[in-house]
Amino acid sequence: MELFTGTYLDHNATSPLKPTVRESMLELLGFPGNASSVHKAGREARRRIEGSRQILVKHLNAGPKDIIVFTSGATEANNMALLGAGVERVIVSGIEHPSVLQALPRPEIIPVLPSGIIDVAALDRMLEGNTRQTLISVMLVNNETGVIQPIEEVTRIARKRGAIVHTDAVQAAGRMPIDIQKLGVDFLTLSAHKLGGPQGVGCLVIANCAVVAPLLRGGNQEKSLRAGTENLAGICGFAKAVELIDFKEYRKLGVLRDKLEAELKALAPALRIFGFEAPRVHNTSMFALPGASSEAQLIALDLAGICVSNGSACSSGTVKPSHVLKAMGVPEAEANASLRVSLGWNTTTKDIDFFLSKWTEMYNRIKSRVTAA
Ligand code: PMP
Repeated sequence: MELFTGTYLDHNATSPLKPTVRESMLELLGFPGNASSVHKAGREARRRIEGSRQILVKHLNAGPKDIIVFTSGATEANNMALLGAGVERVIVSGIEHPSVLQALPRPEIIPVLPSGIIDVAALDRMLEGNTRQTLISVMLVNNETGVIQPIEEVTRIARKRGAIVHTDAVQAAGRMPIDIQKLGVDFLTLSAHKLGGPQGVGCLVIANCAVVAPLLRGGNQEKSLRAGTENLAGICGFAKAVELIDFKEYRKLGVLRDKLEAELKALAPALRIFGFEAPRVHNTSMFALPGASSEAQLIALDLAGICVSNGSACSSGTVKPSHVLKAMGVPEAEANASLRVSLGWNTTTKDIDFFLSKWTEMYNRIKSRVTAA
């Protein structure tokens, strides 16, 4: 029996494994190699892991001194950067993923503009006269709105004030080119499962000879920065997913996303699209129809076999309004009416048309109530 049949439009939560990635992983699942062993099987495992690392180095345009540490995913990589940097002051944006926002007890928060872009002028002011060792963490792309953040500006300001920068690039990978040298960041986080790779694997890239303490101690895997036997199949699947990145294909999703938004707007002019005026990645649309609760929309769509989200998956299951929309100054009633649709490598026009037909049915049922709201 097929485990999932339905219309999947929640790629920012996780993207299904690409068939080629799956094949490359299956080949390795029964393989007895531990990359730390000196025998033939161990050496083969080591060769595969180092090959995977090189694919990432190339994709990110990492420098010869940069270090890529494979982790169990982005949550671990984000925690490693924030906890391991050992700085006196940590500043993060108000729209970060919980794995950044909650890594430390009370980080200072960079405000966010209504457009969904962080307030760089405010960051500059926060750093005026700064003399403490400081780490700034700002994501490259927001997981809820898809808004691209001005990381190059952040690093420029940070350099001026002697601070270092971490960026969570999870939602950017595969959706826009990532050049770590151009970005100028000291730490960069990736996760495999947002780009058709497996869940449970990611990495932290350490650039500019930045220093970080390990979270996990024990063996001396990953240059003693992350103890534990490497996840061979996971790491190779991650690299395969990176190898398969095709920006030309990905841009086509923008056409589908724009069609979706145009048709929704035509049907319901009161609909508000978050981050619409800002630069966004092609696959994400977050919108709200004032008066129509997120939960009711999610349930109606779920009954029709459509998977979407009302913000980050980590907070779904709770009815808390999105902290991202709150940081953007969106009124609570509107935030509670929001829905996120995120497209990915296997999304087709048929999926978007089906979503539109079901959303239209739902809208027609609640229209009189919504327009009165
Ligand atoms: N950062 C962002 C922006 C994310 O979207 C996610 C996944 N929801 C994470 C971090 C956490 O990634 P992982 O599932 O690999 O721990």
